[in-house]
Amino acid sequence: MLRQVAGGVFVHVSEFIQSNSIVVLGRAGVLLVDPGITGGEMADLAGDLRVWGVRVVAGFSTHPDWDHVLWHGGFGEVPRYGTARCAAAIGEVLADPGWQDRVAEGLPPEYADQIPMELLGQITGLPGGSVRVPWDGPGVRVVEHRAHAPGHAALLIEDARVLVAGDMLSDILMPFLDLQAADPLGDYLAALALFDGVADRVDAVIPGHGSVGGPGQLRERIALDRAYVHALRDGQDPDDPRVGPAAALDWLADVHHWQRQHLTQKR
Ligand SMILES: [Zn+2]
Repeated sequence: MLRQVAGGVFVHVSEFIQSNSIVVLGRAGVLLVDPGITGGEMADLAGDLRVWGVRVVAGFSTHPDWDHVLWHGGFGEVPRYGTARCAAAIGEVLADPGWQDRVAEGLPPEYADQIPMELLGQITGLPGGSVRVPWDGPGVRVVEHRAHAPGHAALLIEDARVLVAGDMLSDILMPFLDLQAADPLGDYLAALALFDGVADRVDAVIPGHGSVGGPGQLRERIALDRAYVHALRDGQDPDDPRVGPAAALDWLADVHHWQRQHLTQKR
């Protein structure tokens, strides 16, 4: 089921950690961002679009993690964009002849047999320095940064005043840093500063996982994520509802301790 977030912008929510797929209406069809998780959910979404009488004309993946680069035959064969770094990172994964087994190891066991691998990761990189998604629809600005994963990008749907945040600014997941990067903490803080810079132009924020945030929530989420990253930097446990004893997802405490330990060792 598609729910409207703003004029011409809709979300479809997956069962798997509230993953959001985003549909943006254009002139000749829709742009589909982070298409979904299970084959059944993506088929439903393709069916909803068919009922509306619209087709998918382009895709976009916010970053190269498996849960953001899936696709379904019902969406058709269209260009699926990502940043050049995103495309290079997933291209490296697919270049390994054993990639399906390797990716399968990281899938959540309860969904693994429902996740279609055939079309995973066929991403076309935007030419270096592109600041807009090339499609026939409302202006969508690519806000690329280094945080969470290589080539991670948020999308600013300018007229609708919506920020599609990828795996950042979630109300249910605290920041997951890109621990392979040279400066994971600095990168994350720089990305949050970038979001601060567009906050005046945003009324709704759609995270990769979690609830859509309304007016004013973007700044609150930036502040909460920043406080978490500062706590990690200072080797402290944050006062953060997403990680604490009352957290909805109890496994996040383990991820937090692992991030903290990893960063301490790096020093
Ligand atoms: Zn994700």
